[in-house]
Amino acid sequence: MDKLEYYKQYYQNNKDKRKEYNMTHAESIAKGSKKRSRNNRDKLIEYLNKWKGNKGCEVCGYKDNTKPWRFDTHHIDPSTKNG
Ligand SMILES: [Zn+2]
Repeated sequence: MDKLEYYKQYYQNNKDKRKEYNMTHAESIAKGSKKRSRNNRDKLIEYLNKWKGNKGCEVCGYKDNTKPWRFDTHHIDPSTKNG
């Protein structure tokens, strides 16, 4: 086997190994990344909720530390929206 043939073989073997690894680990990889992004999102939301709860809405002054999740929707409701 010459060098070029060896490298071709090596590449092919590695390619197959990577493919196999990805297939067998795809589920755990997906779960892991999902869990990580979920944690980051939760932290970001927690941070935003704290920040919004302390500062309040810049538009109307809406401020409610006990219901921070309403902050993002209190301007979206069409019945109360006025521009
Ligand atoms: Zn507002």
